[in-house]
Amino acid sequence: MTFCAAPSNGPMEATQGLAMRRGACPSLSTPMMTGDGLLARLRPEKPEFALRDLMAIADAAASCGNGILEITARGNLQIRGLTTRTVPLLSEKIAEAGIAIAQGLAIETPPLSGLDQTEVADAVSVAERLRVAVAAHQPPLVLAPKLSVIIDGGGQLNLGAVTADIRLRAMRTNGQVFWLLALAGTETTATRIAALEEAAVVPAVMDILKNLAAIGRDARARDIVGAVSTRWAAMTDLDLIAPLVAAPNAAGIHDLGGQRPVLGIGLPFGQIDVQRLVALLEALEILGATEIRLAPGQALMVLGIAPDRIGAAQALALGHGLRAFPRDPRNHIAACAGAGACGSARIDTRSVAQLVADTAPALLDGSLTVHVSGCAKGCAKPSASALTITAAPTGYGLVVNGPASAAPTAYIEENNMRTALEHLDKLVSERKQGGESARSCLTRLGADGIRAAVQQG
Ligand code: SF4
Repeated sequence: MTFCAAPSNGPMEATQGLAMRRGACPSLSTPMMTGDGLLARLRPEKPEFALRDLMAIADAAASCGNGILEITARGNLQIRGLTTRTVPLLSEKIAEAGIAIAQGLAIETPPLSGLDQTEVADAVSVAERLRVAVAAHQPPLVLAPKLSVIIDGGGQLNLGAVTADIRLRAMRTNGQVFWLLALAGTETTATRIAALEEAAVVPAVMDILKNLAAIGRDARARDIVGAVSTRWAAMTDLDLIAPLVAAPNAAGIHDLGGQRPVLGIGLPFGQIDVQRLVALLEALEILGATEIRLAPGQALMVLGIAPDRIGAAQALALGHGLRAFPRDPRNHIAACAGAGACGSARIDTRSVAQLVADTAPALLDGSLTVHVSGCAKGCAKPSASALTITAAPTGYGLVVNGPASAAPTAYIEENNMRTALEHLDKLVSERKQGGESARSCLTRLGADGIRAAVQQG
């Protein structure tokens, strides 16, 4: 099969179908006001950093923020509880520690890029060439603050499940590497546009970025999918390209090959007290850890620990209350900051998330993610979930197969959540047919069956 695609000669009608949308991205230079002060999101420029660097960021979060460090669903750092006085101080401390924070367009690669022997191609070098091209463009491209590009070389912890405006992922066909260009979504939901040879990747992305910039600073890839699709003439049916194998949860031990294990540690519901983090990092350093990489799924990857010590490091992380095993039920719950941390929140998301982990293990077999959202925005998981618990005027709403903004299938009174979860857990445990997953069981029972279970007295 030959993969080849080229843009047609006609001008892109990029402005057609554009719906102007607003979206801000809190950074050190533009922190966002939340329920507990200002919030800054930090995207380190380099994928890897030393343990001492993360300790320095933790110290800065303690002295300038509320003493909690967060890792987002996309693998960025977040510090809350800042004030207009402490934001510049935080900037200074991070600069003093020699940590460069990326600005502008988010160009993301998988956390183990460049290390993983199962990668199809080197995403880091392609991403670097794209960064150079974007930085060199004159006049500077003014793009939507939340616009993102994923360059995915494949491998164990690929970014297939992470949403992006523009995504490229490597694939090998007849011994040759191509990059599948897709727009607006995840590996499975994005619209496939073309299969490109590597030399064509940066020009193609720049072409799309220039068109987005020409539309205006709120333009997102979803606004130009139709125009881009008709412009590129694919010489093969892109639907025939096999989907990327879904990445496992980051939590647990991964094998990079050549006696190089890496330990994925997930923060429980995305947060950790900085003192606990520093204590953990110091202990990991003693065990031989040399490098940290942030990972989607609110996780950090620990590198450098020898195979005969990696089990001890895993037990240590669990002892600190972190997610260090693939079977940890908390791996399958996505919760946002919630009440006390976000001004929009109307429920204590972390307590509800812990209640789900304690009360409804039958739901958490890995086949679905239970999403707990403090409001309809759904920050922790913007896409649809099999089950989403969100705030309702009195108590909670349970959305089945939808995002947090969808109309709830059932309502649960404030004091009935534990009972409702127990009923749901019992329903799945008892009605699962041999070998069936929680997701397919819930699908079979349907919204009516789920509603009946959670609303029984
Ligand atoms: S989903 Fe709502 S409550 Fe939760 S962090 Fe986002 S804005 Fe705040």
